[in-house]
Amino acid sequence: MLARMTRKAITLLPEILRNQIAAGEVVERPASVLKELVENSLDAGAARVDVTLEGGGVARMVVQDDGAGIPPAELSLAVTRHATSKLASVSELFSVTSYGFRGEALPSIASVSHLTLTSRVQDEPEAARLDVECGAVLSEGPAALAAGTRVEMRRLFASTPARLKFLRTEATEAKRCQEVLMRMALARPDVAFSLTLGGREVFRLPGGQTLQARLSQFWPPAVLEGLVEFSREHGELRARGMAGRPSHAQNRPDRMLFYVNGRPVQDRLLARAARDSYKGRILSGEHPQVVLFLDLPPEEVDVNVHPAKQEVRFRDEGAVFALVRLALAPAAGADALAEQSASYSSSIRSGGSYGSQAWTPPPSGAAAGSSADRAESRGAAPLGDKPGMLRGWQAFSNPERERVVPLPLAPRQRSPEPTSSPGLAPGPGPAHLSAGPEPRPLSQGGLEYLGQIADTYLVLRQGGGKLVLVDQHAAHERVILENMRRARSGGDSQPLALPLELTLHPSEAARAQELWDELRSCGFLLEMSGAGKLSVRGVPPSLPAGKAAEFLRDALADRTGGLAELWTMLSCKSAIKAGQPLAVDEALSLLEVWLDTPDRDFCPHGRPVAVAFGAADLERLFKRK
Ligand code: ADP
Ligand code: MG
Repeated sequence: MLARMTRKAITLLPEILRNQIAAGEVVERPASVLKELVENSLDAGAARVDVTLEGGGVARMVVQDDGAGIPPAELSLAVTRHATSKLASVSELFSVTSYGFRGEALPSIASVSHLTLTSRVQDEPEAARLDVECGAVLSEGPAALAAGTRVEMRRLFASTPARLKFLRTEATEAKRCQEVLMRMALARPDVAFSLTLGGREVFRLPGGQTLQARLSQFWPPAVLEGLVEFSREHGELRARGMAGRPSHAQNRPDRMLFYVNGRPVQDRLLARAARDSYKGRILSGEHPQVVLFLDLPPEEVDVNVHPAKQEVRFRDEGAVFALVRLALAPAAGADALAEQSASYSSSIRSGGSYGSQAWTPPPSGAAAGSSADRAESRGAAPLGDKPGMLRGWQAFSNPERERVVPLPLAPRQRSPEPTSSPGLAPGPGPAHLSAGPEPRPLSQGGLEYLGQIADTYLVLRQGGGKLVLVDQHAAHERVILENMRRARSGGDSQPLALPLELTLHPSEAARAQELWDELRSCGFLLEMSGAGKLSVRGVPPSLPAGKAAEFLRDALADRTGGLAELWTMLSCKSAIKAGQPLAVDEALSLLEVWLDTPDRDFCPHGRPVAVAFGAADLERLFKRK
């Protein structure tokens, strides 16, 4: 009971206890130690930083650099609290350009581990070494080392088991360390970095790289290809970096990296500004890829609000927000042109004077609501909610029907001959490509198939009064996804005559482990041999074997997403593509199964599958009204 406690006299805390308390803020886990040590190396002007970790960085961590070094006489000061070479006055506190300035990191780390500092100043004949265990100096003396500093930490938290309990598995701690080093390495592509984990080299990055070259060591090619470079200034504020197109947005949030004056930060304001740029172009669960460097005069930002300096405070938040939004606008709008030319109705929508609408079948339960939300977040036309407009479709909509729909189309390689024929050319060539003059009635909804346009859109007439365009890829995607959903994907597999061999990037290999069960339940037969070799012996029946490698690369590039997301990707990869000519019977069988598919109005990514023009819409288009 507190009230009964006998009072103790006020005393100053012993130095070691003070350091351990400070360590509680700065040294949370191996990754936070690594961050401090690498920052010290960069502050010392290192051109290369080599990191070695064992046991997730808990058992042992070595950070070696070729920076300015520490003179022997200052070694013990380096592990003394509030001793720093980076700050001399309070005024400087508001204009720091170094990563460190509190003089807290090394003493904190030394108070909760066994720390050996070895350093040699350039042109000095000899290196010196200092050995500290749990804050107490064990020994000191001359040593051998090339110019620079080597910090070795062993047995983190060995003397504070309570803290040890908060750590996660070795693999997780190692991953966090890797993440920290990656973030620093992206901020300084001029510096060479290497990481060795448990005796295995994870990466070795040469110095003097461009940001793009450096990113390519961490992000898969599919993500990189969509990146757009940006740079924008306003007064003394500058935002630069690279960002992905909206169409490349992913469900993983961890490819949004922000830096303020070269310092990696987690900042809500910056994240909000970035998302705001992409608003309306990405779905609510999606995140763009952004690597953004914000540079501003040091007095415009307070980096002293967080002990590990991961949060910052801007003097003029409004200006920062506006600049970041503007800077990202070119990347965020990078798809806009393509979208515009592909969709005449989008220009109609923005003009607001015409009434074409996303084609809407009757709502099928809750799913219809969520589709509507998706459509709205994409800026699509409001769903046709005028009474009467959907009557024709209601006639055949039967979302309750329980029937496993067979796949009508094994996507297949077609001979390319007919595609180049001009549309009006006489002769037999293109005859099987379009429905020709004879409309083909469908079994439901008073629909007739008229033909294919641009090898991508299926043209339908409904009840004489309505023109309906169906995106063949989107429709097929929806059909395949629904099939997988209903069959719960059964795990059927189509064996490959020749196993496919893939060499995985370490991050892909780690991801493969995590997704192993899901991939198997999709129908992949996989084997992993050492050194990141993945051998694929079977693929899901819906997936063309030729697409398997591409699918796996994409799936392993993405961190979030379990089975549901794999299904979406699988349906996208398996579906007939836009630009593929379809014979009449192929188009008809696709349309028939699609009409039988619940939730058919949007593709799995949230794009509309069909667009309809009523007679009134057409009249307005022709300015008859
Ligand atoms: P801070 O970085 O805030 O100054 P630290 O405890 O991290 O505090 O480091 C204390 C001091 O030790 C630094 O100010 C610097 O002079 C010296 N130091 C630490 N690491 C290195 C290094 N890798 N190379 C050169 N000097 C270093
Ligand atoms: Mg420091």
